[in-house]
Amino acid sequence: MTSRAAALARARRVALVVMDVDGVLTDGRMVLTERGDELKAFHTRDGIAVELARRAGLRTAMVTGENSAATTARGTKLGVDAVLVGVRRKGERVDALRRELGLPAEAVAFIGDDLLDLPALQAAGLAIAVADAAPEVKAAAHLVTRAAGGAGALREVVEFIVRAQGAWDAVLAGFIRDHGGVALAPRAKPSPTPLRKRSATRRGKRAR
Ligand SMILES: [Mg+2]
Repeated sequence: MTSRAAALARARRVALVVMDVDGVLTDGRMVLTERGDELKAFHTRDGIAVELARRAGLRTAMVTGENSAATTARGTKLGVDAVLVGVRRKGERVDALRRELGLPAEAVAFIGDDLLDLPALQAAGLAIAVADAAPEVKAAAHLVTRAAGGAGALREVVEFIVRAQGAWDAVLAGFIRDHGGVALAPRAKPSPTPLRKRSATRRGKRAR
């Protein structure tokens, strides 16, 4: 099985999409005002991705080591199912969440970019690193997105998972119709390829 086929098989079992915030939903920079208030830039296509995930029956969660009002506001606005802030041990917190939801570990997809994400990535059924993630995080991932953090990486991931589950065309048609548009003809092939597969050669070398 190619690494892409293996990732598709993993994606079919996903029921909960958990995302780190800084460096995944943002480019990782934190802008501080002189009063110490924090500003973050989120990508609007990732916001739509949360709604597409919901329409596909997926649950969503944000988990961050920071305690940020901007993150809580963004999560609340988008209707993310769980917004977990101030979490330094993400593996344990995500595990508790998926148990609360009655899900097996295979049902969790986790998207991360840095070292604090490793425990959650190592436990996830589908581990995803953004394009500009730390090398250690990419090495632990089943998939690496084309987009960098803050540049639509979540949208890619949601499309990959929902396509793997065979629901993409229906979800997209429903979204467009509900906003006054006409459903698109299904694309014969996803274009561009939503996610880059990991190099089998590199993984083989690492395994030795
Ligand atoms: Mg991060």
